[in-house]
Amino acid sequence: MRISLLAAMLFALFVALPSPSLAASEGGDEGGRDAVLTAFEQGIRNGRFEATLTFRGEPRSRLLILRNPDRVALDLLDTVSAAAVPSTADGAAVTEMRQGLVAPDRFRIVWTLKRLALPVAETKTADGRTVLTLRLERTDPIAFAKAAGSQSIGIQTARETPIIEPAAPGIFTIVVDPGHGGVDTGAKGPAGTLEKEINLAFALSLRDALAKDSHVRVLLTRDDDRFIPLTERSEIARRAKADLFISMHADSIRYRDIRGATVYTLSEKASDSLSLEIADSENAADRFAGSEWRQGKPEVFDILVDLTRRETDSFSEHFAAGLVDAFSEHKIRLIKNPKRSAGFRVLMAPDVPSVLVEIGYLSNADDEKLLLQSKWRDDTTSAISRAVLAFLSTRSPGTMSP
Ligand SMILES: [Zn+2]
Repeated sequence: MRISLLAAMLFALFVALPSPSLAASEGGDEGGRDAVLTAFEQGIRNGRFEATLTFRGEPRSRLLILRNPDRVALDLLDTVSAAAVPSTADGAAVTEMRQGLVAPDRFRIVWTLKRLALPVAETKTADGRTVLTLRLERTDPIAFAKAAGSQSIGIQTARETPIIEPAAPGIFTIVVDPGHGGVDTGAKGPAGTLEKEINLAFALSLRDALAKDSHVRVLLTRDDDRFIPLTERSEIARRAKADLFISMHADSIRYRDIRGATVYTLSEKASDSLSLEIADSENAADRFAGSEWRQGKPEVFDILVDLTRRETDSFSEHFAAGLVDAFSEHKIRLIKNPKRSAGFRVLMAPDVPSVLVEIGYLSNADDEKLLLQSKWRDDTTSAISRAVLAFLSTRSPGTMSP
């Protein structure tokens, strides 16, 4: 049940839109997840409008920007309100408030803005209680229109990030990362298949394949349709003290006839121009992230980091080579020179061996068909799982972590 622990933590911390088809595959949690809004306060604090909502449980939430009139809405999923939410707000920031159910499972609070502002929200969960703080930051018409157009306002994690339980002694931790999610849909196939959905289906299948081994615990960076910044994905692997990080993708490329799997590792200089293009387009995923995620410099120049980095790189290379072999043994089609490298941000954890797998390319119509077949998906993930177990057999758990 450790997996759902992580899922539950991530659940509380990120914007989440329910994805009926894919979220359902987790299953088993119906009923126990309702949150109750127990207290609501708002007012001007340090010159800014601020609302503080306290919940019993962990609500799933998202923020929306609505226009004509300009409003900020907070959607709370599977949440009931036991607190008095006011219908007016005086002051310079907000003119009017509304609240109510907008769907059977969705409670919405709307603030009508007196002057243009963008919401910044964060949640903190402790002892079964969640506090969500929403602030309104003044903004200009262009930034407001942009935010309204992209609808990508995230609720950011509080600076103190949740602790991921350490693995039991003798247990390896594998972090599987379904690429993209939420507003970031990734590539789109000729028949309309979305990469974010393919990646999630493969990650869940890989998790199930690996879970058969009792020495492995698998954590997913997301198990539903949500956006997670790239740095946060590798940070999850670091916090989990993962023995291996695998990011799953099925991107689009300019060359429509190229198809087959590719295994990427991190390198400062790309191995070839195709890898450079793919890394650039992957790294652009963070355009959806809040500014606090884009600022972070990924690496500190430090001799210790550098030594660890080099050791990690050689483990990543070793795993990548084994994975390519496993794919060919399982008759999984590979592109020419299937082991490649480039500067993928998501692979930058200095102390977790990391690879990015393009399981196929959605720009190719035949690959798109294969990517949708459950039999082919299971074959592919069982090849990956075999390569993971072979890699782990040469290692002892948690050896990369300080
Ligand atoms: Zn991708």
